[in-house]
Formats: sequence, C-alpha cells, structure tokens
Amino acid sequence: MDEFELIQKYFVRPDHAASVITGIGDDGAVLRPPMGKDLVTVIDTLVEGVHFPSKISDVNAERLGYRAVAVNLSDIAAMGAEPRWMMLALTLTEVDESWLSFFARGLHAAAEEHGVALVGGDITKGESVVVTVQVNGYIDPGRAILRSAARAGDTIYVSGEVGDAAAGLLLQKNEPPFPEPHCYLIDRYWRPTARVALGCSLVGRVSAAIDVSDGLYADLGKLLIASRVGAKINLDRLPISIALKASFDEEQQRSFGLCGGDDYELCFTSSEQLPDQISGVPVTAIGEVTAETGIVCYDNGDVVPFVDSGYRHFQ
Ligand code: ADP
Ligand code: MG
Repeated sequence: MDEFELIQKYFVRPDHAASVITGIGDDGAVLRPPMGKDLVTVIDTLVEGVHFPSKISDVNAERLGYRAVAVNLSDIAAMGAEPRWMMLALTLTEVDESWLSFFARGLHAAAEEHGVALVGGDITKGESVVVTVQVNGYIDPGRAILRSAARAGDTIYVSGEVGDAAAGLLLQKNEPPFPEPHCYLIDRYWRPTARVALGCSLVGRVSAAIDVSDGLYADLGKLLIASRVGAKINLDRLPISIALKASFDEEQQRSFGLCGGDDYELCFTSSEQLPDQISGVPVTAIGEVTAETGIVCYDNGDVVPFVDSGYRHFQ
C-alpha cells in the first residue's frame, strides 16, 4: 500500500466543516477562519521511548492517537481558544496496517469530540515512531489567556484532579489484570480530558492560565515566572481522586498531585471568587498569588519544605 492509499484509508474523513475550503489531498490546506478572529496555533511531538513506551500494542496505538490530539487540545484550552483544524506529521518504523487503523481511530475520536478537522500532514519512515500534531483554533481578538498576567492577591485554581496520570504511568508497568482504581489511573494517562469548554468559559474571568503537562508545581512555576510573581499553595487542598487515594499512601498522593505530569488539567489565576464548577468541571482554589517570587507550600497552615518526587514523565 503506497502513501496515497494509506492517507485515503486512514486519515481522510468526509469533510463537512465549512471552514475547510480544501483539506487533505492538495499541496496545502485552505482554511477560512471567521472574520476578525485571532488565530491560536499549538504543536506537540510525542517520541517513542521518550513520551510513550516503545513497541506499543494496537490497543495502546489507539490511546496514542487519542493522546497526541488531546495534549494539543489542552494547550488550545489553556489559551481559551476554540480548536478547529489539525495537521499530523507521522514517522513510522514500518507500515503495520492494524496498528495504523487503531492509531487513526484514537486520533479521529479525540478530534471529533471537539469538532476538529484533520486537514493535512505528512508520513515518513524513521528509526522510531514520532507523532507530531499541530492544532489551530481561534478566539475573539485580544482575548487569548496568557501566562503573564497573574497579579498578587489573585486566587490560584486547578481544574479536575491532579496526579492521576503520573500514577497511571507508573502502574501500567505492572502485569495486568489491573484492579479498578488502577485501570482508572492508567486511562487518565492515555486519555487525558482536554478542558476545552472550561478554557473557553475562563475567557474574561481569569488573569492567567497554563495547562498542567509537566506537573502542577512545575507548570504553576512557569506561570508565576511569566507574571513576575510568586505563590502560596495549600497542599492539603490539592484535588486528589478517589482512585489515587485508593492506590497510594498520603505522601505519595501528594507527590503525584504536586509533581506528577500528564494530567492536562488547567491551572489559572483570578481576582474573582470562582464557583466550584465551571462548564461541568470541578474547580478548586489551592492558593494565592504573592508579590514575592517563589512558591511556598503550606500544609494545614504550616510551611512545609517542597520535595521534588520526580514522578513526572515516562523514563
Ligand atoms: P506533498 O508531496 O505535496 O508534500 P504528500 O504526498 O506528502 O504531499 O501528501 C498529500 C496530501 O496528503 C497533502 O494534502 C497532505 O497534507 C496530506 N497528508 C499526508 N500525510 C498525512 C497524514 N498523516 N495525515 C493527514 N494528511 C496527510
Ligand atoms: Mg506538495
């Protein structure tokens, strides 16, 4: 099967998006964003052996396809934008049609959940599998949420629950079958829920936002540096899932929650008191922005030293 046939079979979808003037099949895609909107563009690469385990099964190929899109949607969400189009650059070590069909299924599933059209890409052969997805979206002019506008006195919030994905990544190295809570955690690694609707709802209500890909502590740190401020955070307020509580002791839960990557929740700051749920997603206040730089951690009112657990990424 040649490249043209592969693309037709696995990547072309009947295209109804009015914004796609010309999709897959020409030298370039022609897209029509709504007049006057700002274009928001993001890209992310997943490398075999670095961002996901080598020689993954068909089941995990489906999850990989899903995840490659979801991590980009998460970046779009953190900007407050609406995703519309994506491009896929795929490097494969061999053409394994079964693997590819699972991969494509996961990829399209994540895209269709958010009305995103695959409008082009590239396929190459290489030494290891590399998946690059670029997502483009748009937002009202000047409204994109940046990392750089948090102010002292703002409350710091995080969506959903943190630490699950890093715990799942660790657990999946064990032998199946997995007990229920472990399945939940493993799924949270492979199928992160990009907080797209939440991100759109935050526009105009928050001062700054970032998505949690490297861990809450690390990513909040990036937001604070960009805004030239610091933070107090309350470790006893970290939102920890029932599954994580069922699987690890309290110290480990906290390490995963603070330092575990790959959750793809949103962390944001606001001068407003926000409700406990926005767009159906739980939102938890975990601290406050301070004028003094650096992050100070508290546990039930007492200052505690920060210990980097290293529960972050694959490898
Ligand atoms: P060119 O030689 O002009 O770069 P290609 O033959 O590589 O074009 O690709 C043909 C068409 O298929 C282009 O529209 C390209 O964007 C699209 N395409 C190639 N690979 C993929 C892919 N993995 N997913 C989606 N579209 C793809
Ligand atoms: Mg060309």
